[in-house]
This record gives sequence, C-alpha cells and structure tokens, in this order.
Amino acid sequence: PFYFVSTNRLPLSLSLFSDPEWGSCSLGVFICLACSGIHRNFQSPAKVKSVRLSRWEDSEVQFMAENGNEVARSKYEAQVPVYYYKPTHKDCQVLKEQWIKAKYERLEFTVDRKPLLYEEGTREGPLMKRGRDNGQFLTRRFVLSEREGTLKYFTKTDAKEPKAIIKVDTINASFQPEKIGNPNGLQITYLKDFNTRNIFLYNESSKEIVDWFNSIRAVQLHYLKVAFPGASDVELKPKLTRNFLKEGYMEKTGPRQTEGFKKRWFTLDHRRLMYFKDPLDAFAKGEVFLGHKDLGYSASAGLPPNTHCNGTWQNGITIQTPDRSYLFTCETEVEQQDWLKHFNELINTKHPRHASSHWPL
Ligand SMILES: [Zn+2]
Repeated sequence: PFYFVSTNRLPLSLSLFSDPEWGSCSLGVFICLACSGIHRNFQSPAKVKSVRLSRWEDSEVQFMAENGNEVARSKYEAQVPVYYYKPTHKDCQVLKEQWIKAKYERLEFTVDRKPLLYEEGTREGPLMKRGRDNGQFLTRRFVLSEREGTLKYFTKTDAKEPKAIIKVDTINASFQPEKIGNPNGLQITYLKDFNTRNIFLYNESSKEIVDWFNSIRAVQLHYLKVAFPGASDVELKPKLTRNFLKEGYMEKTGPRQTEGFKKRWFTLDHRRLMYFKDPLDAFAKGEVFLGHKDLGYSASAGLPPNTHCNGTWQNGITIQTPDRSYLFTCETEVEQQDWLKHFNELINTKHPRHASSHWPL
C-alpha cells in the first residue's frame, strides 16, 4: 500500500537521498534497504516489510500511520548526548549498526534511559593494536581516564608502566575499516612531542569498539567544556573527533623539486595535508598547512612549465604557501579535481565547516 507514504510525512531529506522502501512493523518506521538488514539482526528481529512488494495487514498500515519516523525520533532519540556520534549513511557499517542498536534495541536515548556507560569517566579493556614495526596486531590493555584526561595502553596485562600516555585533547579517532583491513578498525591520531602519531586498533566486538569511540568523545567534551566555558554544544561538537576530508595516493617532489616525484599516501585532516610512505605508518613524513587565500595560499591544476617530470602520473597540482610551492601529481583527472575541490574549499573559507550533508538514520 503506497498511500501511507503520503499520509505519513517522511523527512524531506530522506526522500531526497535514498528511498526508504522498507518499513519496520515492529517500530513503525520507514527505513532503507541497508538499515533493514540491521533491524532484521536485532536480538528479537524486527518484522521488516517492503513498502511496494509486501502484503500489509490493515493493523500494520494503521500502526505505521500512527507512528512513523518523526514520532519514533522523538521517542528513541529523546536524549542523545552531544558527544555521541550520530552516523550518516556515508559512515561505515559498524557505526551505523551500533547507532541503530543503541537507539532501538538498547534504548539508550529514551526519556527514561539508564545512565550511559560512556559517561562513567573511566574505561578499561583489551584492544588489538597494530605493531609499529612488524605490522602484527597484538592485544594491549587500554585505560581511558576522564580525571587524568588521558588514554594509556600497556603491553602486558599486569604492567605498571604504560607504553604510551596519550592526552585526550590531542586525539582524533576515525573508523578506517578498509585501511586497517577489519570492519571494526579504528585509527587514533594524536600529538606526541609536536609530531602526529597514528595507532591502528580493532576489537572483535562492534559494540566494544564503538563504545570506546564514544567514551573518548565524552571525555573530550568534558575537557572542551572546561577549556571553553561559554561555548555552546553546537560550537563544541565539531571539535570532537572528526572524519578525514580525503585520503589517497598522490606523487610529490621534495623542496628543491629536482629529486623526482615519489608516491605517497596523503591524509587531509581539516587544514593539514599529511603524507606518509605507507597508509599504516605511525608517523607522517611531513605535512602542508592550508591557510586562507588572503594569507598567500592557493591551489591550482598543473605544474610550473619548467618542472622536471619524471613521475608516472601526469595530472599535476601546485599548492602555493607563503613559504614555498608544493608539487603533486594524481593518477587520474578525477582524483586531481577531487583533491583540488577539497583544497580550494579550505583555502577559500576562513572557518571551514565540517561536512554536514547527511540525512538521519
Ligand atoms: Zn538507512
């Protein structure tokens, strides 16, 4: 029965970006195909039907009409904490799955919710961590402390001294299932003696890794509120963990631009373009800061005419900074244009906003 789609108003964004062609008769919400798989995998599986193809009982149609996505949102998302990362459909599967489960299955955000474990102030447990030199994943004990504002890890379970002490306010955490080769792969980037350091983690349990992620964000918010007492939640939220704007391979030359082009892995994190020999390197080989155009920054297609082009890739990019110019090449024109789009968005904006094009799950 098509008609209840029109009687039951769907959020405009929902109908624009995807077809919510499925309905959960258990919850009275319309969902997309990807989300329907998650609903079917609940401990007590939801009854999911196709809007077009399934036979709907009159009582089910009525239930859908009485509930619907907005009613469900006001009930199941009554109190979502500011720090809790609400994924969009662009995010990885583990984040979407755990958000949907937290919301509908564990009822973490309803009016009469229980205290949330992300807010307990300390968290401790094993995570698999990739070894810096041999690339092997080994179990390490991690401890997050709100009081100390740190995330520590210990090589032996009974070790007294941590292998590393990471200040939570320098952390960025982002899910990187493809790069890490695990659906629950989490990259943590932090500052160590003014250098950017990466560690790569995962946990067999999807819930566990997403819980760690949101616990880190909860501690970060706590420190931001102390550091910026007058700031609103809307202002603080973008300062929590963020997704990288873009990652991928390009070739680059050294400062004299005669050393030849070398293939490197690039990560664009806000205004910092970092480059690595390998995507899973612990330390960046270097980075380029992308400031505003009024301060002398620009990015354009092509290379200076006298460039000694010995690289394999032909699609050039020149970034001009107040100090020097940086030369890059991309494998394809599509990649070149996509990098340039991101660079110029940053260079043309005084305070770049974080990607916000999303529709609710
Ligand atoms: Zn969906």
